[in-house]
Amino acid sequence: MTEATQTADEGTSLAVPAKSSNRGPGGKLDLRALGRVELAAFVAELGEKPFRAKQMFRWMHQRGVRSLDEMTDLSKSFRARLEEVAEISSTEVSAVEVSKDGTRKYALRTGRGQIVEAVFIPDASAEGRNTLCISSQVGCALDCQFCLTAALGLIRNLTAGEIAEQLLRVREDLKEAGEERNINNLVMMGMGEPLQNYDALVRAIDMLSAEDGGAISARRMTVSTSGLVPRIPRLGKDTKVNLAVSLNATTDEVRDQIMPINKRWNIAQLLGACRDFPMPERRRITFEYVLLAGVNDTEDDARRLVRLLHDLPAKVNLIPFNEHPYSPFSRPSDRAIARFQRIVIDRGLSAFVRTPRGDDISAACGQLGVAVEGSKRTALPIVAS
Ligand code: SF4
Repeated sequence: MTEATQTADEGTSLAVPAKSSNRGPGGKLDLRALGRVELAAFVAELGEKPFRAKQMFRWMHQRGVRSLDEMTDLSKSFRARLEEVAEISSTEVSAVEVSKDGTRKYALRTGRGQIVEAVFIPDASAEGRNTLCISSQVGCALDCQFCLTAALGLIRNLTAGEIAEQLLRVREDLKEAGEERNINNLVMMGMGEPLQNYDALVRAIDMLSAEDGGAISARRMTVSTSGLVPRIPRLGKDTKVNLAVSLNATTDEVRDQIMPINKRWNIAQLLGACRDFPMPERRRITFEYVLLAGVNDTEDDARRLVRLLHDLPAKVNLIPFNEHPYSPFSRPSDRAIARFQRIVIDRGLSAFVRTPRGDDISAACGQLGVAVEGSKRTALPIVAS
């Protein structure tokens, strides 16, 4: 059963989940789910000094403790009081698959029992951009036709703590595996639509970026959205993260078919929201474009893409579709991909073809969720011609 409800404020007919619950698996208040403000308020309610909240924040989000007992600089009596009313949920690594290219796909079991996936993508270049892709929801409600996660439907929102904890647990695993590369880049492109879990996302960004938390600068984080238009400018104001937009089509006709969210907010509205995204400290918005043979990969598409983005600080990530048995789509030929990229570049727009990473372990884009229990994708409606 999902927590899907509707929000009247943003006038969407799409299923938008209720706020993630801050109750832990034991039914008590889950301290890991609380942002700084809520944690400070909770500590104040118990009549404790504000610095106690800071100590607890550091224990949970920097050191990754799994129990109140481990918070050794809190008095025993305070810990005993905490035990009565609160708990700390923990996410654990359930399985790791390692690709021949070094990519590591994690199945992480949340304290509440469901599996989410995260993917570590090491970078061997001098730049050393070691990226972790994390999830924001268990499943997803948005039903993009090329995406395996969509097959799960939306099971529930992750809490802020569950979003942020993915970094801690993957870091621990990398250390245990003797992998020396540090994670220095984070992308919210895993399972789920991050902006549909907005409050938890913003709190998680603070946990992940705080010096006494994950210590990854928000400028090294990218949130990817399929186009929840009202929340795009809001994200820009509330955080310092970068924006990626999963565009994938150049006409509403095609986007309506492959991304149902387009029926609620069309391409013009989506690009309008991108224009309202504050840019001074950010350089460019990334537009992701999954290339589907015969669907969105024509020369006309390439030219339209340039026209659509001409007045935006944009770069384009071209992602040749990662074929899988549950999808009717196929990857365009190398020639078609190169032709598409050439047309875009020749018209002055940056366009990169993303090298598939971890495709031998189904860790590539759009492939998350294959191993998750409850996946019901067996066949997709064919929209490709
Ligand atoms: S592509 Fe993203 S938004 Fe679309 S169904 Fe998959 S996880 Fe959800």
